Amino acid sequence: MTPGITVVDDGTLTSTNPATGETVGTFPVATPDDVAAAVARAREAGHWWAGLGFDGRRDRLRRWRALLAQRLEELTALVHRETGKPMFDATIEAASALEHIDWAAGNARRVLGPRRVRSRVLVAEHSAHLEYRPYGVVGVIGPWNYPVLTPLGSIAYALAAGNAVVFKPSEYTPAVGAWLADTFAEVAPEHPVFQVIHGLGDTGAALCRAGVGKLGFTGSTATARKVMAACAETLTPVLIEAGGKDAMIVDEDADLDAAADAALWGGMSNAGQTCIGIERVYAVSKVHDEFVARLAERARRLTVGADGTHLGPITMPAQLDVIRHHIDDALARGAHAVVGGPDAVQPPYVHPTVLIDVPDDAAAIREETFGPTLTVTRVADADEALTRANALPYGLGGAVFARRRAIALARGMRSGMTSINSVFTFAGMSTLPFGGVGDSGFGRIHGEDGLREFAVAKAITYRRMPSPLPVLSFFRKPAHERLLIRAVKALYGRGKP
Ligand code: NDP
Repeated sequence: MTPGITVVDDGTLTSTNPATGETVGTFPVATPDDVAAAVARAREAGHWWAGLGFDGRRDRLRRWRALLAQRLEELTALVHRETGKPMFDATIEAASALEHIDWAAGNARRVLGPRRVRSRVLVAEHSAHLEYRPYGVVGVIGPWNYPVLTPLGSIAYALAAGNAVVFKPSEYTPAVGAWLADTFAEVAPEHPVFQVIHGLGDTGAALCRAGVGKLGFTGSTATARKVMAACAETLTPVLIEAGGKDAMIVDEDADLDAAADAALWGGMSNAGQTCIGIERVYAVSKVHDEFVARLAERARRLTVGADGTHLGPITMPAQLDVIRHHIDDALARGAHAVVGGPDAVQPPYVHPTVLIDVPDDAAAIREETFGPTLTVTRVADADEALTRANALPYGLGGAVFARRRAIALARGMRSGMTSINSVFTFAGMSTLPFGGVGDSGFGRIHGEDGLREFAVAKAITYRRMPSPLPVLSFFRKPAHERLLIRAVKALYGRGKP
């Protein structure tokens, strides 16, 4: 078969290895009725799963984590075959996913469990209680580029919060999705708590309309708009983890070797097919040339191919045209390729490409390239770098290489996450929330916010004694009304207006 093409035929979907065309897996395509049936089964399973309580779920999730860790090589080999990414890249991805399962399992009770909160003086006779309840069923739609880490960022947190999950993996990575659900079923065989449905976009759209309590979507901004529109029909809340065009700022006091190394990993690991991939670098003029020289020297050392190399194939064949267009368009507008260039695209591979002098209106600056390309732009100072980094509608992650102004620059970056003197670190930091702003989406996976994302706040008050100010009654006395007015002025009327 044509490498990387997913074939839909006679009610089945077949994924192929993007480097060799070898068949990886064939799965039945779910019709809207199948999707509805899966959600109905999940609703039942969700009752059982929620009933296990935080400790019961933590134990199952930890057993799943242990199982995945013990079968790590099997998982990474499957990810390698279905996406083409180098084996060790798949290992890093899986390691990060295991950390998230572990953290979500271990912290769900603390973050979501029942607790008492303070009462305020006007209602001091009531105690206040807060807990976070599961939605019941959470639908998850995932992309192909990190088929383990990205969906598990939603799935592990949704499960820890007490939800059942129905997951629609990308048509390019159905086998990885099925493997994840099959292994979960080994630690929770009683009920279908975590199910996978296969298909193309219309199967995902059916999931949006199937009555799930919440929909967690990770994918492109264009699809996110369709998902949100479909969810709006039933007022189904959505979490959107969409695309990005992340920038790195290299200030004059940066460690240039570290910055060059990180820019290369940030831009070209997984052949650049990373939502938080660094695609644009803004280097201050004083260090620009030296940074470009060190980056280019490293980029020329990268190897490209199917096995044991730095860069694997482009997983989704259609992306090759986008990458080629971005390179050609940049060069046509006056950019220079210091590494790679017009011949970099050699299907199914793309060779490392570093572009300088790329004008701001070029597609390589404005749109997600999703290939092993980097633009490096010379700026007068870090403030200009910040202005240009922030000039796009996207705002997912980003990186700052600096010393003196590092924190200020990180704070100033319009994004959901910024790493200082490294790239991607926030994605593996399970204690931190992950998500973007603007066209990169909203809502958060990972960390405490990621747990709360898949749960509904439930507030309870409990009257403990009679009210000193019983005004919530048609039969209140005028004295109580006067007392309330005096209390309001005393409590809130202080200070200069
Ligand atoms: P797509 O948006 O093409 O697809 C994402 C998922 O949505 C797939 O499972 C897809 O199914 C499904 N889908 C497609 N159309 C619809 C529809 N109308 N209704 C419901 N679901 C639908 O993204 P890619 O898979 O190409 O992933 C790459 C994108 O994901 C990049 O933009 C990347 O930046 C982003 N991404 C964002 C991350 C983040 O955390 N912010 C992390 C990883 C990736 P099918 O594949 O069958 O078409």
